[in-house]
Amino acid sequence: MIPNAESALKGKHVTVLGLARSGRMAIELLTWLGAHVTAVDVKPRSEMAGTAEQLMHQGIPFYFGGEGNAAFTTADLIVISPGVPLTSQLLDDARCAGIPIIAEIELAFPYLKGRLVGVTGTNGKSTTVTMAGEMLDQAGISVRLGGNFGTPLSLIALDCLRGNSPTVDYLIVELSSFQLEAVDTFSPWLAVVLNITNDHMDRYLTFDEYVLAKARIFRSQKKWDYSLINQDDLVVRNLGSGVLSSLLTFSRQHVVDSGMYVDRDYLMWRVNSRTVEICPLSELRLQGDHNVANAMAAAAIALLCGCSVDVIRHVLQTFSGIEHACEYVRDRHGVTFINDSKATNVASTIGALESIGRPIVLIAGGRDKGTDFSALAQAVRLYVKAVILIGESSFKIRKSLENAGVSEIPVHLESSLESAIQLARSEADSGDVVLFSPVCASFDMFQDYQDRGNRFKECVHALS
Ligand code: ADP
Repeated sequence: MIPNAESALKGKHVTVLGLARSGRMAIELLTWLGAHVTAVDVKPRSEMAGTAEQLMHQGIPFYFGGEGNAAFTTADLIVISPGVPLTSQLLDDARCAGIPIIAEIELAFPYLKGRLVGVTGTNGKSTTVTMAGEMLDQAGISVRLGGNFGTPLSLIALDCLRGNSPTVDYLIVELSSFQLEAVDTFSPWLAVVLNITNDHMDRYLTFDEYVLAKARIFRSQKKWDYSLINQDDLVVRNLGSGVLSSLLTFSRQHVVDSGMYVDRDYLMWRVNSRTVEICPLSELRLQGDHNVANAMAAAAIALLCGCSVDVIRHVLQTFSGIEHACEYVRDRHGVTFINDSKATNVASTIGALESIGRPIVLIAGGRDKGTDFSALAQAVRLYVKAVILIGESSFKIRKSLENAGVSEIPVHLESSLESAIQLARSEADSGDVVLFSPVCASFDMFQDYQDRGNRFKECVHALS
């Protein structure tokens, strides 16, 4: 949509909708490129005081709280942040007027330098991207991480344009369905899809819509590009048939023709009929089957980027995970406390429950995303001795568990995280685990999942 030329947007009128981190970086990038930018956010100005001040300082016109409709019909281009659905009614007039609407990552894409590895999936993106980044780093291959977590692509693009940081060989970026919704020419050299399970049903009308958003990662790949997909995930596997690039797969369950698999508890890599041993599964520092899948994806990325098996093996042996994803907090009187605040959907909490292998007191609940919680019941029955629910979704989760026939396990409702932790401490016996794995978004009681996880850790450390 945007030609790969620094002058392409010079003098153009561009409206940026959604002024969180990526939207603000898109403004910086557009300004550098010489566009006339107008900034819009649906939030009222009272909630955007800092942003308003910064925009005023930059001389960027802005509209808050539903004002500024003209900015959508008079623009040459509209750039939307991940927080704004492509289907937003605000964009109806622009759509009718035929004005192109693109994602922030699509804006940044033409200006990125280095081979682009894009990683998407419902869960495991940050873990996989971080682990793969560690492998490249330790192999002495220059790499930068970004996207959905960390640095917006617009900032990386700006750094490339300004020559601020040395050009890296590889960019490994985490991509959410929200970011991929509005891409067209965006095209990674290596596109990775880890898994797709139910999530974000408050944003998408159907599960298929969510799957299609993720599938856009392959849309503009060429035959000389690569894709890596999880063969054990039926939804992801079905996407493979439409892929134009060279397809590699990973599987914990079956031997694969091209890619990563497990043979007699050994991680194996096979490409062009050549097979290489990576390491025994028992050496992996990360716990749980879900993390085996993440480790396989990370190792496959690293191999395709040129890392040696020795370096990959070392990182698999030592990488202990990322903050807020099944993060060990402390042991207290024989009870282990684990912070899994990043678990915002059913599959992620099931992954945590299955990986622990000890009786669990589960603290969950938060903002519902239109989730069907009934799929939790089986894992709760198998691994959980008490459930403590907080937040907006607590009644719905309790009802779902009741409807699914979970009657033998006590389910408590608490009004705060603090009181939930106090109760969990009295419910747990020595040898048990208290797991905070909310299954939900954080915004009902916290700023974000980091704030939520940090509060959990503070409270747990404060227990006498
Ligand atoms: P993302 O960046 O996709 O949100 P993370 O790596 O940050 O993924 O992990 C988010 C949550 O999902 C954590 O609770 C983590 O334990 C869990 N998780 C990680 N990988 C997987 C997986 N492959 N399947 C299910 N759950 C996972």
